[in-house]
Amino acid sequence: MDFAATYGPPVFRRVLLKLSGESFCRPGEGGISVEEVSRIARQASRVASAGVELAIVVGGGNIMRGATFSRGNDVIKEATAHYMGMTATVINGLALQDALENVGCETRLLTTIRMDEVAEPFIRRRALSHLARGRVIILATGTGSPFVTTDTAAALRGKEIGAEVLMKATRVDGVYSADPEKNPHAVRYEHLTYDQVLRDDLKVMDMTAIGMCLDNKLPILVFNFKKEGNIERAIAGEQIGTWVSNATRPQRQETPTA
Ligand code: UDP
Repeated sequence: MDFAATYGPPVFRRVLLKLSGESFCRPGEGGISVEEVSRIARQASRVASAGVELAIVVGGGNIMRGATFSRGNDVIKEATAHYMGMTATVINGLALQDALENVGCETRLLTTIRMDEVAEPFIRRRALSHLARGRVIILATGTGSPFVTTDTAAALRGKEIGAEVLMKATRVDGVYSADPEKNPHAVRYEHLTYDQVLRDDLKVMDMTAIGMCLDNKLPILVFNFKKEGNIERAIAGEQIGTWVSNATRPQRQETPTA
């Protein structure tokens, strides 16, 4: 498939894609669905073959969320539970790596907690060099520190690698005035400023991550990744999802021919 012919040329050249753990399983389930992972891998691979530099931060909520787990018992300490959560992201990262390579896309799995047998340590310059060589980099273990989430890691790494946008993949079409799965009158915002998100406590990403994006002027695009082709559409500048930034959103440059 020719990306530009189908979607138009990419408007972003370096993208940080945040995939929550729920991307790896079927709705309402946990664990890993090979079908779901393969679907994401096909889309990501098309993006990479269009020359877009793609870094993916993987979550681990399909396996373990530290805060939830530690609330449920008084044996395992909260910090330990967060490390367990970070380890869970490696399981997802390994699955995504193989799924990407299965569709011919070269990847590197990078972690902030060392796991030399399965992944490279995250070193910024090395990460950038992988991107320049057309490899998709998968970033696991979040920030490497407990008590935060992989959203915060996505904001941090997005800034660090100079991504033009943090694309936050969700199951709904963007940010809504209320939960669209419960309220049929909920409306989708096309554009929000960081201040609106913080003031109205809108569910975009956790507040630490939003604050970091605001400080670093990193735009966030919240979009529905369950619709096949949406990752490509968003990167080609189609006005899907919700754009969170104080700057205007880049527009599609050309009308695709197909
Ligand atoms: N986590 C952490 N530090 C980080 C990133 C993640 O302690 O920098 C832990 C935290 O317990 C979190 C879990 O890893 O709940 C899994 O990540 P997250 O909840 O962000 O996954 P997602 O919601 O994206 O599936």
